[in-house]
Amino acid sequence: MKFGGSSVADADKIKNVARRIAAAKEGGDDVLAVVSARGKTTDGLVALAQEISDRPDPREMDMLLSTGERISCALMAMALHDLGHGARSFTGSQAGILTDDAHMKAKILEVRGDRLREALDEGAIVLVAGFQGMSSDSRNVTTLGRGGSDTTAVALAAALEADVCEIYTDVTGVFSADPRVEAGARKLPLVSHEEMLEMAAMGSKVLALRSVEFARRHDVPLHVRSSFLPEEGTWITKETPDMEKAIVSGIAHRSDEAKVTISGVENRPGVAAQIFTALADKNVNVDTIIQNQSDVSGADVSFTVPLDELRLALDTLEEIRGTLGYRELTSNDQIGKVTLVGAGMKSEPGVAAKMFRVLSEQGINLQMIDTSTIRITVVIDRREVERAVRALHDAFDLAGEAARRADV
Ligand code: ADP
Ligand code: ASP
Ligand code: MG
Repeated sequence: MKFGGSSVADADKIKNVARRIAAAKEGGDDVLAVVSARGKTTDGLVALAQEISDRPDPREMDMLLSTGERISCALMAMALHDLGHGARSFTGSQAGILTDDAHMKAKILEVRGDRLREALDEGAIVLVAGFQGMSSDSRNVTTLGRGGSDTTAVALAAALEADVCEIYTDVTGVFSADPRVEAGARKLPLVSHEEMLEMAAMGSKVLALRSVEFARRHDVPLHVRSSFLPEEGTWITKETPDMEKAIVSGIAHRSDEAKVTISGVENRPGVAAQIFTALADKNVNVDTIIQNQSDVSGADVSFTVPLDELRLALDTLEEIRGTLGYRELTSNDQIGKVTLVGAGMKSEPGVAAKMFRVLSEQGINLQMIDTSTIRITVVIDRREVERAVRALHDAFDLAGEAARRADV
């Protein structure tokens, strides 16, 4: 069971979650719960660091950020003790979560979990602080990137061969769009790993991308559901042949990206390799790449990066300016992305055309377009993102009958 920040935001909510964990244990299951930092604690810690320093050391950032989850975990153990249960909390490193060295976006390499197994065997409810681990090389505390408690939960579920990994949150499941943006969004009973990967990658933060990758690779059944309501949520599963495939299942959006354009690079083999190797060496997460070759002025290369990596991307490109050679480096930190996802798109022509038509009727200009077999993404002005989501939700009738697939 994994409980997100809003589910443990205050004392009453912590006690509510404790009752839910206790009920699962009393129902006869062995229970391991992963908890996130309370409410906006992580945001608060980030802000605190920024008050102290412009460029805080990443190692110390992880030392700081990992405390939020430890607090929740200890408090949850206390709440469970008061309900008469033996509960023990563990940090990520105590839980044996070993990661690489990439501070603030570490990848889990291995889960040992011996202490957790022992505690479970002794009948205790096990609580693990989400979003953190320990670097197997340096033994430093690491964190897994924002939203990373989901990944902790799925990784532990895989390592302990759990029957199910339940992600408890402030919505009742995965919806056809972010319910905060589209009030008419519909809960999806069943979503395939492939669709969920695209949605998570493109901004549906209800599940962290890496948690979905883990669930797919290790075949962990994932159930996203509400911390506050008992109802069934959304199951994320393998695609099966009898799964009815909606042409469009959902819309994802994100508003925290930036676009970088390098104009007038030489049009010869090796240029793109040089650019993206330099960025990869600095661990910059590059997405949507477009290269356009013009006869007169060489080639232009544009790509997107998370907003908080823009500075690093630009610094990196300035550094290689001498060897790469380009006319101009520009950026736009006012972009957003809107993505349509649907497994049925593979065999259905015309979805992109309809999407572009709907957006043009809204007077929304497309800055970049990017597709996969089950996804179409457009880069647009950030201020138009929410309007685009609502217009597309309506045009593709995602709230209505047309969007309905086999209900479970
Ligand atoms: P937690 O703190 O439980 O980890 P998050 O805030 O990370 O919760 O994720 C839940 C939020 O994800 C919801 O409140 C919702 O606004 C947002 N969200 C974005 N896209 C979707 C979607 N397609 N379905 C459900 N929730 C979504
Ligand atoms: N507390 C971390 C965050 O806010 C991890 C999580 O909530 O999953 O990003
Ligand atoms: Mg989350």
